[in-house]
Amino acid sequence: MKVAANIFARIELNNGQTMPAFGYGVYKAGGQELVAAIAYALACGYRYIDTASFYKNEKEVGQAIKTGGIQRDELFIVSKIWPTQFGDPVKALDESLRVLGLDYLDGYLLHWPGLDAKRRFNAWEQLLRQCETGKIRALGVSNFLECHLTELHRNFAMWPTINQIEVHPHYQEKELRAFCADNGIAVVSWSPLGRGSGVNIPEIAGLGRDLGKTPAQIILRWQIQSGLVPIPKSVHDYRIRENAEVFDFSLNAAQMSRIEGLDLPDNAGRTGKDPMLWPPSE
Ligand code: NAD
Repeated sequence: MKVAANIFARIELNNGQTMPAFGYGVYKAGGQELVAAIAYALACGYRYIDTASFYKNEKEVGQAIKTGGIQRDELFIVSKIWPTQFGDPVKALDESLRVLGLDYLDGYLLHWPGLDAKRRFNAWEQLLRQCETGKIRALGVSNFLECHLTELHRNFAMWPTINQIEVHPHYQEKELRAFCADNGIAVVSWSPLGRGSGVNIPEIAGLGRDLGKTPAQIILRWQIQSGLVPIPKSVHDYRIRENAEVFDFSLNAAQMSRIEGLDLPDNAGRTGKDPMLWPPSE
């Protein structure tokens, strides 16, 4: 596995498109604070911005892209469709594009599998056709477990380009990540900092002291060296920069395995919901 050399590095997806190996998340951010934060993130070199219809901030993301001064083809903009929108996925896609002010999305993800497989497959089938129109460059999923991926593959004889899942030191999803790797599915890790709680793990802080880096930088570096694409969120300039400065050092094998040992058993570290139980599709 080739480790991303800098914030502009890209990885190849299974449909031939490329995606930045590092991104910026915008959940629970909005207003002019978010527009300014994205402008700063772009100045720091972030090129992948992760939003969703559910976040209700696509308008601000679009505004920041318009004024950010980065060419559209250098950016990788991801949005997501919520399971209640699976009945009319083209309407959901067109609405996201309209609010963002874009004519295509680099990534469009089924945000959660939802509880109704029929509606999920309907959304996938219709969105696949939208890839042919050029409105979606890479169709992917989020919060899909191995059973959801296998079922999708059984129905469509293809794997999604991306699976965006929760991954951080206390919740590592090792088996699901291995399954994705075996099948050429890129794994994007959401809540890569454990929604902020990861920076308080004593072993992470200890590694930070050893290496002269912050705990957040240790976690993000571990993710990059593990082949994950982290999308940390912050609206504060100093943290946006700090989180991006993870390409000038590396963790050795012993340090990597110390972090691998922090995974908690029985999903105890999970901050999100169980995709088998939530959210309802209607
Ligand atoms: P995160 O792990 O990125 O943590 C963000 C929080 O950590 C911040 O709000 C801040 O409190 C803290 N933080 C950020 N940088 C820090 C630093 N350098 N030092 C100390 N603390 C720091 O959590 P997140 O926002 O939940 O996840 C990131 C992104 O993933 C989201 O913004 C969203 O785009 C995406 N996401 C997707 C899903 C999904 O279901 N697909 C779910 C949750 C999040």
